[in-house]
Amino acid sequence: MGKKSSLPETAGGNNDVYDVVIVGCGVSGANIARRLSVYKIRVAVVEKETDVSFGTSKANSGIVHGGFHHNRKYLKARLEIQGAMMFDRLRRELDFPFRRCGIIVAAMHEDEMKAVEHLYMQGTDNGVIGIEMCSRERILDLEPKLSQDVVGGLYAPAGGIVEPYRFVFALVESAKKNGVSVLTDYKLEVANWDAGTTTWTLHAADGRSLCTRFVVNSAGLYADEVSRTFGAEDFSISARKGEYYLLDRLTKARPSRVVFPVPTAVSKGMLVIPTVEGTVLVGPTADATEDKTDLATTSMRLEQILDSGRKMIPSLSRNDVITSFAGLRPVLDEDFYIEASKKAPALIQVAGIQSPGLTASPAIGEYVKDLLKGIGLELTEKSDWDPFIDRHPRVRESTPYERDELIAKDPAYGNLVCRCENVSEAEIVEAVRLGHRTLDGVKYFTRAQMGRCQGGFCTYKIIKIIMRETGLTYDQVTKHGHASRVLEGEL
Ligand SMILES: Cc1cc2nc3c(=O)[nH]c(=O)nc-3n(C[C@H](O)[C@H](O)[C@H](O)COP(=O)(O)OP(=O)(O)OC[C@H]3O[C@@H](n4cnc5c(N)ncnc54)[C@H](O)[C@@H]3O)c2cc1C
Repeated sequence: MGKKSSLPETAGGNNDVYDVVIVGCGVSGANIARRLSVYKIRVAVVEKETDVSFGTSKANSGIVHGGFHHNRKYLKARLEIQGAMMFDRLRRELDFPFRRCGIIVAAMHEDEMKAVEHLYMQGTDNGVIGIEMCSRERILDLEPKLSQDVVGGLYAPAGGIVEPYRFVFALVESAKKNGVSVLTDYKLEVANWDAGTTTWTLHAADGRSLCTRFVVNSAGLYADEVSRTFGAEDFSISARKGEYYLLDRLTKARPSRVVFPVPTAVSKGMLVIPTVEGTVLVGPTADATEDKTDLATTSMRLEQILDSGRKMIPSLSRNDVITSFAGLRPVLDEDFYIEASKKAPALIQVAGIQSPGLTASPAIGEYVKDLLKGIGLELTEKSDWDPFIDRHPRVRESTPYERDELIAKDPAYGNLVCRCENVSEAEIVEAVRLGHRTLDGVKYFTRAQMGRCQGGFCTYKIIKIIMRETGLTYDQVTKHGHASRVLEGEL
């Protein structure tokens, strides 16, 4: 339903009236927010968790896919191809960890080569550049850690790896810098449409409310509930769990490219992924689960993961495992559901964003911007939009000379808090000042607690820094917000 606003205040009178409110701040919501920040409109993102990227966008394979897994008839395939191409420019502007290391699909039996050929044809049809069918010799040359049993495969040189939460954090920082409001701990519960003013009033669980002319539902696993809140389409999102093992950066099994098996009908299979920060991921599984909060890992599935991984890379060792975790795919249908609602006014649905949602997300931002324009949102570019955010210095990435300079400017760069990942006090302080006030938020921004000891030595120091910088008391510091309190008594 197209409409023009009858609320001139959106240009700046009433602080609580927005042009667009985005519900959910994962990688979809963050890309949409940043894309909209280019224009002279008031935009807010509301997120039910204490930090952004705490939903599906925090626990996935972190792959920028190669454009050959899906047929172009699907919207997800078209957005994947477009989105993947946008990462280089985004990395230059936003300085998040991303590298085009290339993707390999390894066929372990002759009869899998037919499926590899199909992927090759699909990739070529999709316009993927540089994709290659490989002989056994070629694939072993590209990835010498592969099993000698490999019979051939596919190589997509443009595929890459990204740190998914840092990507979201950088997008959000950029959106905020360009005027977008980000409201966390804001669980949308009620939405009322006023036909007179053609605005939605959105009410959060904690009593806060705001008004907006347009809404985007990018609520991930809960997009079905949010849709019902608006009296919009009645669909159901189910969760499909993916469990992973994380291996220490010293493992001998780290491949130089992402290694996929030949995919099955429901899943791309269990992969071996050299993460962009130097560790190795093995997984994920693909199991339906009734519970949208079920992030448990099981020894049975983890055993299966190692077995599958070892078929491709035999040097994978249980001794290198430092932790396990799980993520939940928001499954709706075969394809993404990104459309203007046919039932509720001024609402864009961004639902069923399972893989390759991370890859597609920059293109989702573009696509949703056009959908909003199509239903009446006027878009005039700002003259002062700034695509860049400040670089955040990292001790582990700096040369000894750069480190000296950093320490000269701020001695806290000389105080290493996390020794596994070489994270200094200054980096933790920067994370907290940027709004990451939980242990997980600090972890995702800095990598402190992500190394071999998994926070065994640094967690208490980080808690103390959070308390010092924010004034929170020991019982208010949490792992990931809400009830996830970590301390029973004072440190
Ligand atoms: C195991 C696994 C592996 C994957 N691997 C890859 C990969 O390698 N490459 C790739 O391209 N894609 C991958 N994906 C897919 C990708 O992770 C998702 O497509 C993407 O993260 C979805 O982002 P989103 O923003 O749509 O959802 P989310 O990240 O879930 O964000 C939705 C947000 O909405 C919030 N929310 C929900 N309800 C409300 C409410 N009522 N009020 C306010 N906020 C609300 C949630 O808290 C959440 O933060 C993988 C997914 C999984 C699970």
